[in-house]
Amino acid sequence: MDPFGLCADSLKDKKGLCPGKLTDKEFDSVEHAAREHLSLVARKRVLDALYGGRIRGGNLGGDEAHVSGLSPDVIRVNRSLSVFDQRLSVFNWDPQSLARILAHEDRHVQQLANFGFFTRVLGGSSGFHAVLQQDADAYAQVNLQP
Ligand SMILES: [Zn+2]
Repeated sequence: MDPFGLCADSLKDKKGLCPGKLTDKEFDSVEHAAREHLSLVARKRVLDALYGGRIRGGNLGGDEAHVSGLSPDVIRVNRSLSVFDQRLSVFNWDPQSLARILAHEDRHVQQLANFGFFTRVLGGSSGFHAVLQQDADAYAQVNLQP
């Protein structure tokens, strides 16, 4: 049973994909994770991104998910994370773990919104990156609900 409903037909493109070109199952996983495991503020942002097509899937190598400076409002989630030789989609992780990743990445979206173009694209020092990672982890921790 699905408590929230899959993405409505009216949201789908010609190929039957949900916003962000997610499958029904991926879309539903994100919706479930956000509704059940994020604070109100973090949930609203993630759902806005989901319905706005700014949460997408991809093959990201070893990254669970990422936000690129070139499209700083798009969260990409890895569909084929290789773990112990199994190809594993992060969309299929347990909802709380997915929620933590989405909140972490959404914090990067918030961080990038405050940077100028060159900082976004060229990045900063490794110390700067460490601060951004800590901030994103702290945000995810604070906004995660059991
Ligand atoms: Zn990060």
